[in-house]
Parts: sequence; structure tokens; C-alpha cells
Amino acid sequence: MPTQKTIANAIAHYANLCHPTDTQLLAVSKLKPAADVLLAYEAGQRHFAENYVQELVDKYEACPKDVFWHFIGHLQSNKVKYIVPFVHLIQSIDSQKLLQEVSKQAQKIGRVVDVLLQIYIAAEDTKFGLDDQEARQILAGQVMHPLPNIRIVGLMGMASFTDDKEQVAKEFAGLAERRTDWADVYQHDSIDLRELSMGMSQDLDLALAAGSTMVRIGTAIFGARS
Ligand SMILES: *Cc1c(COP(=O)(O)O)cnc(C)c1O
Repeated sequence: MPTQKTIANAIAHYANLCHPTDTQLLAVSKLKPAADVLLAYEAGQRHFAENYVQELVDKYEACPKDVFWHFIGHLQSNKVKYIVPFVHLIQSIDSQKLLQEVSKQAQKIGRVVDVLLQIYIAAEDTKFGLDDQEARQILAGQVMHPLPNIRIVGLMGMASFTDDKEQVAKEFAGLAERRTDWADVYQHDSIDLRELSMGMSQDLDLALAAGSTMVRIGTAIFGARS
């Protein structure tokens, strides 16, 4: 079990690593109790990321209202409505259909919701994320027929789960390059590809070196998940 001290120390450590590049530290609290979120909050942490809708809603209700909540898990369209009222950033847009639903639900309550496109960069087979062609289609669609209540503010990716640092560095560099290329090509008021969300507990250093603007750290702050 993490204590106030271990959590505070970890947050201070990672905040320091992020400081030189002005990278945002996100504490990934999935599958951890709200009590752990509060310990991190007391240590000064304000940005938290969650993977499951019901868990996020429960923690939103249990925690101080100045927390910035990021959604980083696979999001089903029928659950979008539960998080749209309060979510700070949805990082895991993996289809046009999902983006449409976010815009629709946001429109109902008069919000504009910031999102990232989740790009598939790993060599291994994972289920979620857009390939280049799908991501380009979404960006082109937003230029030609913009959805009114979303803003695409960057890209998110998960590298391969491997000890091969060269492989991971290559994947992060590829994501960084896409951001630069696509920011040139797809120009619209609702597209501002400023964020590059990449880096987790095991590959944070490589992500920072590749220009990450947001790292998502779970295990290294809260301990292993059961
Ligand atoms: C769980 C998760 C993380 C955090 O992973 P750790 O290895 O615990 O740091 C980061 N990003 C995503 C998308 C996750 O699902």
C-alpha cells in the first residue's frame, strides 16, 4: 500500500523530471481507490487519468472539483454522456463515430470538449488506436465538415511493451513526426495539435527525449495494480 510519503516522493521526483521540458505529469489512478487520489492531491498533483467510465465518475464525485480529469481508456459511445460534463481531456479517440458522439453530447450541454487522437504506434497487436490513414481521414473531415463541439488538441500513443529501447524511441519519434506533419496539413480553428501524450512508468525517459508534452504515470506513483 502506498503511503502519503511514498506518493508525495514519487510525484516530486516525476514532476522534477518533467520540469525542464515543461511536460505535464498525469497521475494514472485507474484501479486505485479515491483515497490514493486524495493523497496525491494533497501532494499537489492536479491532473489525473482514468481508464474506466464508472470509476472515473465515482472518483470525480469523491474528489475536489479543481482536479483535471483525463480519460485514457477505450471509450464506448454509449458511455460518452457520463463524462462529457466534467472531463478535461479525452485522450483516446479511436474512431470518427466516437468523435461524433463526443461532439453531440457536448453540444447538448453547451461545452466544447478537447480531445486527442489515439494513434496506433506499437509493433505488437493491440486492439485500439487509429492507423495513419484513419487519423488523416478524421483530421480532413474536421477541416471539411467540422464537428462543432470538439477541439482536436494533439495525439496520444502507447509504445510497444518491450525492453528494446531503440524500438520504443523509434515509435515515439514517429508519433512526434506525425504531429508536426499533420499540424502543417490540417488547418482549422478546431485543430491545434499542440499536445503529444506519450510515456508511461517504464518508458518515460525516452518519451521526454522525444518531445512528449504529457506523460501518463501510474505504477511508479501508486504502485502495482492488482
Ligand atoms: C495504465 C495506463 C498508463 C499507466 O501505465 P503505468 O505503466 O502504470 O505507468 C498509461 N497510459 C495508458 C493508456 C494506460 O492505460
